[in-house]
Amino acid sequence: MATPDPPPPAPAGTKDLRLTTEEVRQLWSFVHGDIMDPEMRRQLRASYGLCPRHSWAYAVVEIELWTYGPGARGGHQPFDVAILYKDLLEHAATELTRRRILAANLASVLTAGAACRICEELSAAAPSGAPVGYAGSDTAALTEEANRLTFTTAWLRQTERVWRPWVCPVCAAEAGVPRDRQLTADDAGRTCRPHLLAARDLPRHTADRVGARLLETADLLGPLIESMTDRGRPATTEEDASWVAALGWFAGWAFPLAVHVSDEGAGTAT
Ligand SMILES: [Zn+2]
Ligand SMILES: [Zn+2]
Repeated sequence: MATPDPPPPAPAGTKDLRLTTEEVRQLWSFVHGDIMDPEMRRQLRASYGLCPRHSWAYAVVEIELWTYGPGARGGHQPFDVAILYKDLLEHAATELTRRRILAANLASVLTAGAACRICEELSAAAPSGAPVGYAGSDTAALTEEANRLTFTTAWLRQTERVWRPWVCPVCAAEAGVPRDRQLTADDAGRTCRPHLLAARDLPRHTADRVGARLLETADLLGPLIESMTDRGRPATTEEDASWVAALGWFAGWAFPLAVHVSDEGAGTAT
């Protein structure tokens, strides 16, 4: 008999990313879906991608579970994640910079106009019976594998020197990062989308800076995506870090900061 999963954690919970089997089942199916499909793309733009928890979870599931592919790593890489979030970065930058709107309304262009697709699927999922995984996959085994975070942790660690200065200052403060490790040269331009929305007031010059930074990140994602194909050169460390920057902006930085902190405490990745 299958034991029903507990209900999924609140979508805002990105610090503790231990995924339920139902979340992994839905995300694994999403990874196999066609994010280039026009209707899917329209919905994902309207929702600005997935909610914070499922944005990071999407990357974890693709990185941990996708075991083959071209490029230097030959799998365990955020290929679909990078394609989707490059598109969303460009979309958000356009929204932030193209319109003449009152500053009081500027933050509203970042508000999601549709629900997270994974949250929707989770709330619609049948509560009884043993759900079948994508193409008959063993979701319990996949969940255990995903939750080890082996490849994600390694990736975050290898690129930390690059992404650390990109961390949203509000996220860093909330995570207890010492002030001397928060590089403050461009604080306003680094503020993540959740914290821009929370602040409500978004001055035009800040919106312009944020928009410019989003395009810089998108420009780094291009060669990263190419590096995961047959034709691309290997990515630089800065390009390797760009998907972390993209998700950090859309979903906040609690997850990578928590992984790093737990690493420091544990000494070795598990
Ligand atoms: Zn969600
Ligand atoms: Zn933040």
